[in-house]
Amino acid sequence: MSATIIDGKAFAASLRERVGAVAADFARAAGRQAGLTVVLVGEDAASSVYVRSKERASIAANIAGTVHRLPATTTQDELLALVATLNADPAVDGILVQLPLPKQIDSHAIIAAIDPDKDVDGFHPVNAGRLASGLPGFVPCTPLGCLMLLKDRLGSLSGLEAVVVGRSNIVGKPMAQLLLAESCTVTIAHSRTRDLAATVGRSDIVVAAVGVPELVRGAWIKPGATVIDVGINRVTLADGTSKLVGDVAFEEAADVAGAITPVPGGVGPMTIAVLLRNTLVSAYRREGLALDESAL
Ligand code: NAD
Repeated sequence: MSATIIDGKAFAASLRERVGAVAADFARAAGRQAGLTVVLVGEDAASSVYVRSKERASIAANIAGTVHRLPATTTQDELLALVATLNADPAVDGILVQLPLPKQIDSHAIIAAIDPDKDVDGFHPVNAGRLASGLPGFVPCTPLGCLMLLKDRLGSLSGLEAVVVGRSNIVGKPMAQLLLAESCTVTIAHSRTRDLAATVGRSDIVVAAVGVPELVRGAWIKPGATVIDVGINRVTLADGTSKLVGDVAFEEAADVAGAITPVPGGVGPMTIAVLLRNTLVSAYRREGLALDESAL
């Protein structure tokens, strides 16, 4: 293995520490803590784990973390009413409705009902538009975390060839917008891309957000490229045990790449750290207090 391993776990821990210190400053200046409210509908096991981690991480970072746990039978109107209450609550700086939602609820309608200035997940169409237009707003946490890792590793990204594999609204598309804003030449690859190997092969930056275990092979990677693996896939091994793998064949890619994120311990820990960062940014903006957002 020749690649440098990008330690997202350590980066995320230091980001959470910075956020915690600035959140304490905020509480002193504003006379209240920044507040993040998470809404969980139903009992999806993975979602429950994510929500508990978000609650714990908020509290550890001096942010008031509140969770509303609603039954799986909640109607769309009931959830819309809760979102309206949270929009109007001055102590709430960030609202996050955990996805996926039960099938009787249209997640687009719920996201669209969140005040865009409290949409710390960055999923509201207004925030997607702001990102595409280069206006201040909120950027989805996972791609913003990927960008932080890339800039920490590479400094300026200007002029680099970048490929984003995957075109979801929560990872692929905002990732491509962020790289474009950094003056990369960006290709978005997806399930209909004809020659994924060649597209990856000309890229200095590869971001894989697909959800297919080890799709991106080491032989495709340009020597020295920086590889960011967003995928989290649980696979069952021959002996019946299971393990997490990314969307990139790690061992192969690590022989060719200049730097690569591992799974787990790469992109994964960045998401919650950036969520806390976005919540604190929201709190400063809503109170009209000055903050150097680029330092966070
Ligand atoms: P998604 O299913 O919404 O989108 C997957 C994308 O991959 C689609 O745009 C599709 O076109 C593309 N795709 C599918 N098969 C392909 C193929 N064979 N070749 C090229 N492209 C292909 O997924 P998502 O929500 O963007 O998540 C992607 C992965 O990232 C998943 O493994 C998910 O678990 C992981 N994820 C991790 C985090 C985190 O680390 N915190 C956050 C979000 C998602």
